[in-house]
Amino acid sequence: MADSIRSKLPKNYAHLLGDLFDEPAFDETRATCEDCAMCANAGQRGVELPGDTFFDPKLKCCTYHPMIPNFLVGGLLSDPAPELAEGKRRIGKKIEDRIGVTPRGIAPSRLQRVIYNAARDRCFGRSEALLCPYIDEGRCSVWYYREAVCSTYYCKHVGGAKGRGYWNALKMYLQFVEHSLSSWASKQVAPGSKEPEIGGFELSVEDLAKKGPPDAEYATYWGDWVGREAEFYMAAHEKVKALTREEFVRLIDDTPQARALLPDLKKRLDDTQHPKPTPLLVLNPGMKKHKMPEGYAVRTYSHYDPMFLTNDLYELLETFTNVEPAAETLKRLGVELPDGLIRDLWLHEIVVPPSNDCRPAPKLSFGGDRCASPSRPTSDEGATGDSGGG
Ligand code: SF4
Ligand code: SF4
Repeated sequence: MADSIRSKLPKNYAHLLGDLFDEPAFDETRATCEDCAMCANAGQRGVELPGDTFFDPKLKCCTYHPMIPNFLVGGLLSDPAPELAEGKRRIGKKIEDRIGVTPRGIAPSRLQRVIYNAARDRCFGRSEALLCPYIDEGRCSVWYYREAVCSTYYCKHVGGAKGRGYWNALKMYLQFVEHSLSSWASKQVAPGSKEPEIGGFELSVEDLAKKGPPDAEYATYWGDWVGREAEFYMAAHEKVKALTREEFVRLIDDTPQARALLPDLKKRLDDTQHPKPTPLLVLNPGMKKHKMPEGYAVRTYSHYDPMFLTNDLYELLETFTNVEPAAETLKRLGVELPDGLIRDLWLHEIVVPPSNDCRPAPKLSFGGDRCASPSRPTSDEGATGDSGGG
């Protein structure tokens, strides 16, 4: 039996999630993390397309500094598994430095956020300056306690645009869960705990000097817990671990935000699991294309997932119209395509319903759409596969 979505998520809160999370996990076989599909010379790459972006094999998609919520930090620190020793050491160093360390969790420094935001379009996957502090010789040292972005990122999707839509919806729900649980847990452990008042993209003198906040300010975040931050995080983990499903529903799933996010997630999962191309299809007029001798390099939903169409296939797709179903056109022309090809072209938005005919070209820049919170670019953020991503 396939692994469930739940089984891929951190154990200290996965058990609290609803039945939807018992659905089979979606296997992103095109994101070949052990032989990174975004790195030059990887075995999986087919034809090299103009404008291709390659990642540095030492960095891959872990050029991202996660915000790890308090209860996940605490779960890691409480876990006796020997393979987490390096992750614990790195978290310990973060706590010692006090940069980005607050009752809600361990965040990137504000300076790092500003740099990342300015650099990610051009430098994601390619600059060591963006490398995650938890990566250890190419392996994630905090894998079992990684946060929502890291749990849901893939550079390429078997389900194309629909697949990306599913992972984005999953990420948004999990981010809401993590945000809500960390906020709740910090108040449970220390009702007087506070977060810094300075905004995530503003910089203080200490930020520019790459130092933690002044001692007096830092103490206001923690109250009695200052100097016992690791204990605080472990207490937050215990609070979350002890929650029942009923309490979780009251705190999270019954809120207006979750009531909007969950049906969207369910729909997008269904769209990905049971793709149903519309009968009328036309070649996506908004896709970027580049003529090559044997065909066209095309980009649609993601800069990181270019496709190649042979001249014959491209010319055939050009015959699709907004008045005759694609299946009828193929029949009329006496063309038989391999099973699933039309479905895949539709998933990747190479062919689209005619109603989309006049829509603007999809956003193809490297940049993601959530600059306000840390995230990874295009495809659209999220983390790596089971290899530990990076
Ligand atoms: S998800 Fe990351 S590590 Fe995996 S193939 Fe894509 S870029 Fe490489
Ligand atoms: S998956 Fe990569 S980016 Fe995320 S915590 Fe692990 S090493 Fe860091």
